Order: sequence, then structure tokens, then C-alpha cells
Amino acid sequence: MVTMENPAMKYTELEHIGSGYFGDVVRAVDNATGGEVAIKKINLQGLKRKQLTFNEIMIMKRHRSPSVVNYLDSYLLGEQLWLVMEYMDGGALSDVISKCYLSEEEMAAISRECLRGLDFLHSNHVIHQDVKSENILLRTDGSVKLADFGLSTEFTPEQSGGCWVAGTPWWMAPEVVTGQPYGPKVDIWSFGIVAIEMVEQEPPYLSQSPASAKFLIATVGTPQLRQPKLLSAWLRDFLSCCLQTDEEQRWSAKELLQHPFVTSAKPASILAPLVISMKKRK
Ligand code: ATP
Repeated sequence: MVTMENPAMKYTELEHIGSGYFGDVVRAVDNATGGEVAIKKINLQGLKRKQLTFNEIMIMKRHRSPSVVNYLDSYLLGEQLWLVMEYMDGGALSDVISKCYLSEEEMAAISRECLRGLDFLHSNHVIHQDVKSENILLRTDGSVKLADFGLSTEFTPEQSGGCWVAGTPWWMAPEVVTGQPYGPKVDIWSFGIVAIEMVEQEPPYLSQSPASAKFLIATVGTPQLRQPKLLSAWLRDFLSCCLQTDEEQRWSAKELLQHPFVTSAKPASILAPLVISMKKRK
């Protein structure tokens, strides 16, 4: 599963990008090609769910698409696993959302790119299970990709999905918080919550504890928007198609790619000025 070489010879580290639950992410340059990469350094020592880490490698290795952050290589250095991936120089969508208001045109372009990623994963029988703005990465050319496959699950068409409670509470679908069997449409609910983040800067119930948020998701159903009248009819309809409590009524990624809010979206390159200006503000 891993390349048996010393990655310290192959890459030169440039800067620390951030830290997650599993370890640090650094920006580095591939000495042979001069291309930039991101390296996630995962500390395996003491990690209870090592399986999740290997899961991430296997899923990233098997599934490559322009809408998903692509895997390049992996290495084992003692108790540290290095996961080398393409570098997304615009950072996470969550950073952009926290710094500025997006126009509906920008929201539509981001939605189409994310839905392409989800359609790709779901067509390949993968549920992402942790869709949220922190796990959507951007590039300064305007490209948008899904990242972080640590919690993803592969399912067979017969056995439609998972049943373990996984994800980040505020983005979880009702069928996940209530512990029912679920399928790929849990990602569509979570993406609907990302769409609310794009509109309102945060997901519903963020001020509540994880347990209260889960209770509200299970009991309230489709979350209410703060100021629905400020949104276009197409965006309101798009949100309601993503956030149907009944999974049967909720649209699939393929169907949402045909929604007028998405089909009328401009090319992803319109996002470039936004991503560049947010990067300068860091
Ligand atoms: P978790 O550990 O729960 O998955 P996380 O998503 O914050 O949390 P990481 O995926 O380890 O953790 O990411 C840490 C930081 O590195 C985040 O700021 C993320 O945006 C950034 N990052 C991750 N992958 C890349 C990449 N390929 N290119 C650029 N930045 C990245």
C-alpha cells in the first residue's frame, strides 16, 4: 500500500498548512518535477482507529477525478504515515465563507463542482460521510474539489450503505442521527447544509452542543432559513431538494446537476478572483 522509499529525499517541505485530528498537513515541493504537493503526516502511534487512515488511502487511490483531491503517493516512516496529495492553493471553502459573502453566481458554481464530485463518488459506490465546507478545497484557478476521505465508506449496490454514526454532527442527515440504515443521499443532506453555510456563514444549530444539534436535526426536519426572501426562487428550491427529510424525496447528485440553479451556473473559473482575494487576506 505504501512506497518503500524515504520521502524526505523526494520532497522538500515548504510550510505547515494546518493540523487535523490525525496529524499535520504541510506544503512541499516534489524535487524531481518542481510541482507543489500537500503531505498529510498521520501519527499512527496511539491512534485507535488506524483502519480509518488506511481507508483514506485506499479510497483516494482507487477513485480519481477532477472533482476530488487526488492521491499521489504514501510512505511509512516509523510510526508516521505520509499521504501525498495534490496541493490546493486556495485553502478550504470554510475560510472563504468566514471572510466574505458569496454571490448566488459563486454559490451555483461551487455547488456544481461539489455535486460533480459527489456524483462521481456515488457512481463508484463511495459515500463520503463528512461533507462540510472544511472538506471542500479550492484552487486559485477556481477549481473546487472534495477532500478528506477518512470516514468514507464503500457500499455495494445490494447493501445500500452504512449504519454507523459518522460525520460531524451539524452536517449529519436525519437518518444518520437517528441510527437508521442509510445510503449515499446522506452526502446530499450534508451538501445542503454546506449550501446553508454559503448563504448564512454557518450551519444551522452551530451554537448548540453536538447532542442538541443532533436532537434538532432529528425532530425539526428541514432547517428554516433565516431570511429566505433574500434568496432567488431557484436557490430556495435547490436547497429544499437537497434538504428533504425523507431520503426518498431528496434528490440525488445526478438529479441536482440538472437543477436550473446548477445548470445556469457559470464556469468554475469565475471563482478565481474570489479565491485569490481571500488568499491575500490570510
Ligand atoms: P480531520 O483531521 O478531522 O480530518 P481537518 O479536515 O481539519 O480535520 P486535515 O484534513 O488533516 O484536517 O487538514 C488540515 C489542514 O490542511 C486544513 O486546513 C486543510 O484545509 C488543509 N489541507 C488538507 N489537505 C490539503 C490539500 N490537499 N491542499 C491544501 N490544503 C490541505
